[in-house]
Amino acid sequence: MPGWASWGIGVDVTDRTQAQRTLQDLNTLLEQRVTDRTAQLEETNQELQAFTYSVSHDLRAPLRVMQGFAQALQEDYGDRLDEMAQTYLQSITNSAIQMDTLISDLLAYSRLTRAQMELRPTDLNQVVAQAYRQVQAQIATTGAALAIAPQLPTVIAHAPTLVQVVANLLSNALKFVIPGTPPQITIEFALQENQVCLSVRDNGIGIAPEHQQRIFRVFERLHGVETYPGTGIGLAIVEKGIERMRGRVGVASQLGAGSRFWLLLPLSGAAGISPPSPGAL
Ligand code: ADP
Repeated sequence: MPGWASWGIGVDVTDRTQAQRTLQDLNTLLEQRVTDRTAQLEETNQELQAFTYSVSHDLRAPLRVMQGFAQALQEDYGDRLDEMAQTYLQSITNSAIQMDTLISDLLAYSRLTRAQMELRPTDLNQVVAQAYRQVQAQIATTGAALAIAPQLPTVIAHAPTLVQVVANLLSNALKFVIPGTPPQITIEFALQENQVCLSVRDNGIGIAPEHQQRIFRVFERLHGVETYPGTGIGLAIVEKGIERMRGRVGVASQLGAGSRFWLLLPLSGAAGISPPSPGAL
C-alpha cells in the first residue's frame, strides 16, 4: 500500500511544518517583546539617572545659600545669641554639611553609572598608592597601621574608578572601628586562575551575616550618623564600579571580629585575557 504510506507521511510532515512555523512566529514575537522591553528599561534607566543628576546638582544651590546665611548669622550676630541659639545654629550647619556630602556622593554614583569606561592594564601598586593618599589624613588621625603586600599584580580595569573603590574600602576600614582600638589594615592579594583577588582586611566592628548583602545598596547603613558618620553610598559606588569593570566584590565578616572586603578582577596578560576593545563599556 504505497499510497497510504506516502499519504500518512505527508500529513505528519505538514503538521510538523505548521507547528514549526507557529513556533518560529511565537519566537519572533517573544524576541521582539524582549527587545522592546529592554529598550524601554534602558530608556527609563537613563531618564532616572539624568533625573538623579540634575536634582542633585540643583539641590546644591539652595544648600549653599543656607550654609552662607548660617555662617553670616554666626559671624554678624554670634555674640548676641545665647547658648541654645548657638546649638541650633550649629545643628543647621552640621545638617547642611551632611547634605552636601550626600549630594557629592550621589553625583559620584550617578557619574559612575553614566561614564564611558575604557578598561586597560592597571598596576595595583599605583592604584593602592593613590587610594592611600586619599585617606592619608584619616590614617594620621586614627593612628592606623597599614600593611600592604609588596609587588601587587596588574589587572584589567579603569584606573580612576579602581582608585575610588579601594579608597572607599580603606576609608570604611578606618572608620568602622571598635572605640579605643587603632585600626589595623592589611591589603593583600591572591591569584585565582586568570583573576586577581585583592583584599582589604580590617580589625573593626565586623558585620553580621544577615546584613552583608544589603550594605552594598544605596543608602543602606547599619548605624546612625551620630555613631559613625556617612551617607551609605560608599559601598554602592564600590559595587557599581566593580560591576562596570566586569569584576566581582564581596565581604567575609563576623560581628566584632573585623571584615575582609574582596575584589575579583581579571589578571592582565593572563592566557585568554586581553583588554576589551576601547570604549566597549
Ligand atoms: P557609609 O560608610 O557612608 O556608611 P557605605 O556604603 O560605605 O556607607 O557602607 C554601608 C554600611 O556598611 C556602613 O554604614 C556600615 O554599617 C557597613 N560597613 C561598611 N564597611 C564596613 C567595615 N569595614 N566594617 C564594618 N562595617 C562596615
